[in-house]
Amino acid sequence: MAKSVDDLAEGNETEPVHRETQTFGDNPLEVRDTDHYTHEYVGGFVDKWDDLIDWKKRYESEGQFFVDQLKARGVKSVLDAATGTGFHSVRLLEEGFETVSADGSPQMLAQAFSNGLAYGGHILRVVNADWRWLNRDVHGEYDAIICLGNSFTHLFSERDRRKALAEFYAMLKHDGVLIIDQRNYDSILDDGFSSKHTYYYAGEDVSAEPDHIDEGLARFKYTFPDKSEYYLNMYPLRKNYTRRLLREVGFQRIDTYGDFQETYGDTEPDFFIHIAEKS
Ligand code: SAM
Repeated sequence: MAKSVDDLAEGNETEPVHRETQTFGDNPLEVRDTDHYTHEYVGGFVDKWDDLIDWKKRYESEGQFFVDQLKARGVKSVLDAATGTGFHSVRLLEEGFETVSADGSPQMLAQAFSNGLAYGGHILRVVNADWRWLNRDVHGEYDAIICLGNSFTHLFSERDRRKALAEFYAMLKHDGVLIIDQRNYDSILDDGFSSKHTYYYAGEDVSAEPDHIDEGLARFKYTFPDKSEYYLNMYPLRKNYTRRLLREVGFQRIDTYGDFQETYGDTEPDFFIHIAEKS
């Protein structure tokens, strides 16, 4: 039976269908490769992603932030470039936006599609596409592109970052907007590994903590109540570096928010959200 987002507290009831397991090889700290994400979002980790980021709690903590930002700009069509398991795509469909859901991981897209059906009976328009070749696989122009959930951090070379941003830029209408978020890596890098803190998702037993940090790698460990552990290798983007890339690719105005607040100061936010306007 179809559910609404209000019913999400009970969790995901779709059948797990993902069997491949994560592989990092003998030297996990040497895995600094953009292409590797397709080997990370697989198997049990895909099944567990919705436990990691509980949809109902996420819905409450984000509130209307993204919806308000989009509506304030008269946005109608949105490309969710990092669909993952579909949280934002479903949210946007519920709010009446025309939404296309892209991701480079077929396993995440499969989960997103079944989540769409389960939570509101939405048929997601899913497209398997890597950001670096987005224009090849996704058609049309959009009023907005979103790339959320600390996804951009998966690109390991500046060339890939510039390529992805250029593809986003090209797929936006002349007055389009790109919304991209990232973890606050500045504080993790600058305050040192000793001050690393553990992030508790879903407020309970699921944790994410830095396993290794250097200027070229942020490796996080995710631990679940059944004691299973998964990892993600990411590039630790500095906030001003991301802003500079956005400017250099052509965005005219970039506003950066911390944890959904316009001003951030004494207490460092865990996340930054960049809103980049094309004109
Ligand atoms: N936005 C979702 C959320 O907030 O729950 C998913 C976030 S998940 C951290 C990152 C997603 O980005 C994954 O589903 C992964 O497959 C996708 N991704 C990473 N690098 C990509 C790339 N180069 N092209 C397309 N998708 C990519």
